[in-house]
Formats: sequence, C-alpha cells, structure tokens
Amino acid sequence: MSRLRTFERKIRHYLNRLSEIRFKKKLRNYVSRIGISSLLDEIELVDPHPKKIILPCNLGILFCGDFKKKEIHENVVRQLENIYDSFFFNIIDLGNFKFSKKMESKGIKREKYRSKRNHTEKLPLHPTNKFYQVLIDKRIEHRLDMIMAITNLPIYSSEENLIFLFGETHLDHRCCVVSSLLLKEQFYNEKRNEKLFQLRLEKEAVHEIGHLLLGRKHCQNEACVMRKSKSVEEIDFKSIHLCPECMNQLELLRNRYNF
Ligand SMILES: [Zn+2]
Ligand SMILES: [Zn+2]
Repeated sequence: MSRLRTFERKIRHYLNRLSEIRFKKKLRNYVSRIGISSLLDEIELVDPHPKKIILPCNLGILFCGDFKKKEIHENVVRQLENIYDSFFFNIIDLGNFKFSKKMESKGIKREKYRSKRNHTEKLPLHPTNKFYQVLIDKRIEHRLDMIMAITNLPIYSSEENLIFLFGETHLDHRCCVVSSLLLKEQFYNEKRNEKLFQLRLEKEAVHEIGHLLLGRKHCQNEACVMRKSKSVEEIDFKSIHLCPECMNQLELLRNRYNF
C-alpha cells in the first residue's frame, strides 16, 4: 500500500509539470507500473465542452474497422429508434474511422481469451479511452450530444480492470463503444451466423445507449436488455427490450424534458 502511495505522489508531482513532454512519458511509465489506468484516463481525455444532455438529442455512430457498414447502421438505427422512440432527433452515420499508425499501437495489451473454448493466441486489445478521445473530438466536430463507436477490435476497459469487453460507456463525455469481435460465432470456432451476430450487436448498442440515458446501473431483470452480460450466452438469453421498470425510467426522462 505504501508503494502505491509513493507512486501516486510521484504521479501528482508529474501532473503539475505536464507541460513538458518528457514528464508525460515518465508519468505513463508510472501509471502502467501501478496499473491504475483511470489516472491515465483523467489526463488523456480532453473535452472542452462537457455538458449535461438535454433531451431529445442528436446521436452519431462511428465505425472503427471493417464492416458491411450500411446494413449494420440501418439495423442498429432501426432498433434504437424503436426502443428509444422520440429520444433522438437524428441518428447520424459518421462513416468509417481508422486509427493512424501511431495511434493504432497505443495502449495495446496482448491477452488470451480465457474460456472453455480454447483460444491459444494472444490478441491485441485496445483501451477504451483511445476510442473515447476520438469520439469526443467527433462529437464536438459534428455538434452531437451523444456518440457511439462500433468496432471490430477487441477492447479492454480504461476505467476498470476488465478485458474482452462487449462495450463500455463514459457518461461524463457522453460516448460509448461497442466491440463486435466477441459477438461473432466464428470467434468461438462456430459456424458463421450473420443474423445472430446482428441481433447481438443491436442488443449491445441498445444496452450502451441505455447507460447514456439511464446511468451506469445495471438492471436485475434477467430478460431486460440493461442486464449485465458476461458472455454471449447471456446476451442471447436477454431480450432486446427494456423491462417495465427501465421503461418507466425512460418515461420519467420524457416527463422531465417535456417531450
Ligand atoms: Zn452495461
Ligand atoms: Zn430493466
């Protein structure tokens, strides 16, 4: 514990001198040694326009990776419009985004996916805050209120000690990211199933947007889309819809914002 305190003290010291680039490098080293990536997150995310959401609002969807984008976008939009009826003026397709060569390798963690189904190779996972910064910039550029990234890259949380996430939301910055890799049957050495993949992706998109609207809490109702899923089986088990209690919370929002 005292070691941790020493590191934290040193981090604060470097934080105060961040204008010099060499201190940034040292800070990164300390943070990665302690494993508190939230500290890195605090430093890295630059958002000049943090504000509370006023509803209804505009949502943007950005694709990071290789997708049959048009179809996916249309299906996700249809579900979001259906479930969050009247919450969005517009759901905008922001097109495809690719990290620059320099960014691509930033923050990579190589991990094996551990499950009953054998995965032997290590995969390069990307930290969620890498997506958040891109999303913050795009959100500002396109004057959006909320923004979501859909990526085929595997991700790990910059907030918590979690790897191979289905998705994560950053409430303060009004953005979320959904990773599609683990939603594919091929990932588990099963036969490709586009329909199942699409439905899983829609559920996870509805889930993360649910967090942006209703907050970070998960629902305990097993059939509710706001239930936390630890596996694809759990995603398959829950429905794409909100339970009556979560629907009620949406209703309260509608009343509060008068729409
Ligand atoms: Zn969740
Ligand atoms: Zn619920």
